[in-house]
Order: sequence, then C-alpha cells, then structure tokens
Amino acid sequence: MTKRPFLVIAVDGGAASGKSSTSRELARRFNLLHVDTGAHYRAVALACHRAGIDPHDLEGLRDFLRRLRLGARVDGHESLVCLDDGEPPRLEDLRSEAVNAIVSGFAAEPLVRQSVKAYQRGQVELARSRGFSGIIMDGRDIGTVILPDADLKIFLTADEATRQKRRELEGASETVSDRDRKDSSRATAPLKPASDAVIIDNSSLSLDEVVDRVAGLFPDNLRPS
Ligand code: C5P
Repeated sequence: MTKRPFLVIAVDGGAASGKSSTSRELARRFNLLHVDTGAHYRAVALACHRAGIDPHDLEGLRDFLRRLRLGARVDGHESLVCLDDGEPPRLEDLRSEAVNAIVSGFAAEPLVRQSVKAYQRGQVELARSRGFSGIIMDGRDIGTVILPDADLKIFLTADEATRQKRRELEGASETVSDRDRKDSSRATAPLKPASDAVIIDNSSLSLDEVVDRVAGLFPDNLRPS
C-alpha cells in the first residue's frame, strides 16, 4: 500500500510578520492542521503569571513546569493549546498586554523551551491521526529546531512600519521591534531563518498573494489536492 503524501511546513518570522494569517489560510485551503506555537509560549507565560512564577526563579519554574500539562483540542484546522483544566485559554487572555510584556522573557528560558518541545513535535502525529493532508506550524524556531526536516520552510518578513501598523489595527499598543529584539538575541533557539528557508517579504503583498506564493513552493509529490 502506498503511503498518503503528508506535507510538513515550517513558517517562522517576527512579531506581526503575517505568519499566523498566512498559515491559517493555507491550512484552510489545503486541509492542513495549523499550529500556532506562539500560543504555546503565551499559554505557559499566562499560567506562570497566574501562579505568580518568576522566570528567573529557576527552581520554582522547574517545579511548576513539571506539573503543567499541555493538551490539544482540534477545532476545524486549528490545534488549540489547552492548560491543566483541559480548556484552551481565552484568546483575549493569551494576547493581552500583560502576556505580550512577559512572554519573551519566559520563551528565552531553556526550561520553558524544553517543556514545550515534545508537545510541539507531537502535533505532527496528531495531524496524521486526524486525517489532515499535512501540518503547518508557525513560530520563531520551527525550521531551525522543532521541525528541521520540514518539506518546506518559509521565513516571513515585513518592514517595521508595516508590522507596527498591523499590531495597532489589532488594538495592541506594544512596540513589535522590542519583542523581536529579545527573541533574536536570546541564546537558545533565537529568531532566525533556517539556512534552507525561503524568505518572503510581504510588506507590499496581500494575504492572497503571500498564500499563492507559498503554495507555489509546495513540492509536487506532496502537493495536497
Ligand atoms: O507568535 P507570537 O507573537 O504569538 O509569539 C509570542 C512569543 O512567543 C514570541 O515573541 C516569542 O518570544 C515566543 N515564541 C518563541 N518561539 C516560537 C514561537 C513563539 O520563542 N516558536
């Protein structure tokens, strides 16, 4: 019996670079499971924040992470991260100003990265078992660390003014370049393109144009119908 083709796509890029919108649309068009790994770090940061855990208190953090259980709920083409109560946190909590301010600090901590790695890699099996034609995972280190053997790696960029405007249109007041600076300069799994990633600057492209461009890069033998 021939194995059904299964496409693995890694999408990386800075804050408001269009990763999630592009990935979500590709997932919808090609029956892929979309995994937003930023939400995983946001969920961990939120849980730590609620429990009063400081990212610099390594003993407290280690102990907390050992007990924290991340689950997944598949909703349409989205894999939603769930915390201990088995429920996905509310989007407005994950994307709150409070979480924006602390998430990069937690994400820079190797203990945190280690604790989400197996969960993130496990999403590939989840996508297969649920009958998806592939997986599209977005984040900062997907092509470099989490899925280094992905069939296609995309690194999205956009100029700073465009990215800042996108965030403001979403109602957020953070400075995107601050978070990027923290994410690019950390020692573990910094934000950077994989050496075999295709870099797409989407400053002056529409969402459809970016999606078409990425779809045009799918390997022929793995192209979902
Ligand atoms: O993508 P999003 O803006 O939701 O990511 C929130 C934060 O999570 C990033 O600023 C970064 O600190 C962290 N992150 C990460 N590695 C990933 C995805 C997100 O460090 N793969």
